[in-house]
Amino acid sequence: MTDVLKNIYLDHAATTALSEKAFQAMQPYLREQFGNPGGIYSYGVQAKKAVNRSRKKIAALLEAQANEIYFTSGGTEADNWAVLGTVTTALRKRMMESQAGTCGESIHVITSSFEHHAVLECMRWLENWGVEVTYLQPTREGYITPLQLEKAIRPNTLLVSVMMVNNEIGTIQQVKDLAKVAHTYGVVFHTDAVQAVGHIPVSVQELQVDMLSAGAHKFGGPKGIGFLYLRQGIQTDIFMHGGGQERGRRAGTENVAGIVGMAAAMEDAVSKIEYQDLNALCEKSSLSILRNGFWKDISETIEGVEVNGSMGARMPGNLNVLIRGVDSEALLLHLNHEGICASGGSACTSSASDASHVLRAIGRSEEEAKQSIRFTLGEENTREELTYAVKKLADAVAHLRKLR
Ligand SMILES: *Cc1c(COP(=O)(O)O)cnc(C)c1O
Repeated sequence: MTDVLKNIYLDHAATTALSEKAFQAMQPYLREQFGNPGGIYSYGVQAKKAVNRSRKKIAALLEAQANEIYFTSGGTEADNWAVLGTVTTALRKRMMESQAGTCGESIHVITSSFEHHAVLECMRWLENWGVEVTYLQPTREGYITPLQLEKAIRPNTLLVSVMMVNNEIGTIQQVKDLAKVAHTYGVVFHTDAVQAVGHIPVSVQELQVDMLSAGAHKFGGPKGIGFLYLRQGIQTDIFMHGGGQERGRRAGTENVAGIVGMAAAMEDAVSKIEYQDLNALCEKSSLSILRNGFWKDISETIEGVEVNGSMGARMPGNLNVLIRGVDSEALLLHLNHEGICASGGSACTSSASDASHVLRAIGRSEEEAKQSIRFTLGEENTREELTYAVKKLADAVAHLRKLR
């Protein structure tokens, strides 16, 4: 190994580096083209044009209409808007009905128990407002089945929100089939596609979803920018009140450089998706081959290891491993010492010692969840880096097991 001091970054589901294309595209808008898109002078007009070009580009990549794309501060905001906006619209209607003495019925929402916190915490908040929430339990493999969804739908179900790709175990849901079930019963369907966009084919025509969230920093774009796809005609409240930007639905001066960077990153990422067929992508893409080799090395070198979730319909770069008898937090510290970045059974909140709700949802015990570690590979990772990582991983595991 020539360059051991360089970090080996195996945490691409947490965030990605800004792509060269995005960086180049953003530069003019950070300094020379600083105008407010709301201005009528040429600086403003240039900025507005850049925002609209980006909107068109993103819409085309998703097979959506440009006026169905709303820029947000990221995936979290898009999720909050989709879930809370849809429910508050219905709550307002119900309030007016009860004032008219016609006593509206309660509102029911369906989600899964292994959503990202950006969706889960919205659901918890809604429960405080008297909204009934059903949390579908994924199978041990990490999937929500259309039949399971169908059984949970009630006459008062308003919204279903199920993520397209799980951020911890990388399993890919059959969003098209789930949306179809929801629509059969006249229920609105949202998907958190933050881990999917730019990595696997995502077309709103194909999926027939009503709302879809994405965040740029998961596909080589800048942090703090994302979008919500909102199908025309879907009733969702204004989420940010103010100056009327985003066609009056999401106020705040546009993050022009961020928007331009996101569009450039998405175009670049989508152009690099190796197969349009999902099975081919999961089995034959260079990232899945790299990941499979990594797993083969780990399983041949270290005893007592198991993959969390199915290896079938799964993100090519994702490997979430249970390493029995090894506390993942201690392991991560050892790996960090060797310049290897990965994440534990409680992604996102690196300080939280709570066991991952995702791993618990797929039937792992609290102990197993705390002995699990997530590696998410990206296109710049090499076979050489992974060979080195396996060696260091094996050393750390042996060391930690000896201490027990
Ligand atoms: C990262 C992530 C989010 C949050 O997106 P931000 O842009 O970081 O706010 C939401 N959902 C999933 C599945 C994610 O991976």
